[in-house]
Amino acid sequence: MPYQWILFDADETLFHFDALAGLKRMFAGHGVDFDDDHYRAYQALNLPLWQAYNAGEIDAATLQQSRFEGWAERLGTTGAQLNSDFLQAMAAICAPLPGVRELIDALHGKARLGIITNGFTELQQVRLERTGLAEAFELVVISEEVGSAKPHRDIFDHALTRMGRPDADSVLMVGDNLHTDILGGLNAGLDTCWYNPSGQPGEAAIRPHLEVQHHDQLRQRLG
Ligand SMILES: [Mg+2]
Repeated sequence: MPYQWILFDADETLFHFDALAGLKRMFAGHGVDFDDDHYRAYQALNLPLWQAYNAGEIDAATLQQSRFEGWAERLGTTGAQLNSDFLQAMAAICAPLPGVRELIDALHGKARLGIITNGFTELQQVRLERTGLAEAFELVVISEEVGSAKPHRDIFDHALTRMGRPDADSVLMVGDNLHTDILGGLNAGLDTCWYNPSGQPGEAAIRPHLEVQHHDQLRQRLG
């Protein structure tokens, strides 16, 4: 095992994040039949907010509330409440991606495992417990708590400090997002693995050390 630590992104790296299913479930609880048009309108608001959050331009609370403001007004509640209901719905439907359990089992005892996520606090621990993966990860670093999001150097520095400052090249960062996980890992001096299940084209300026389409490939490489 060439690595002392392996850090994973959470959403769409370890866990399926089916936002439409979560929104349908959450809005059903408010008597709304959330359809594809609603989803398009939601993403037209949500995606630019995420870009602004990842760039450090807005904080987590602004993202969480703004994306549900219109619905909150219509339903006589608050954006923060709808966001909380949504995260609970996401926790209820969460599932690990194919090959994750086998990968984590194979790494057990060979490397120390952590998570570094731009996702929100309310979802993280409940999701790890529901999926039985909580014990496998000794470190969970959440951007909402650190006040800095991937790819910013601060969140990686925070993680490395909590890890006891291992050599950067003894740490592998695994994630599905080139612009947050891989770029952030590279800037922090870590080795990186791009989990790219749909075989998207890469980018010349962001070169991961490894690229896999399935977690089995990473397991074979490291197991
Ligand atoms: Mg991700």
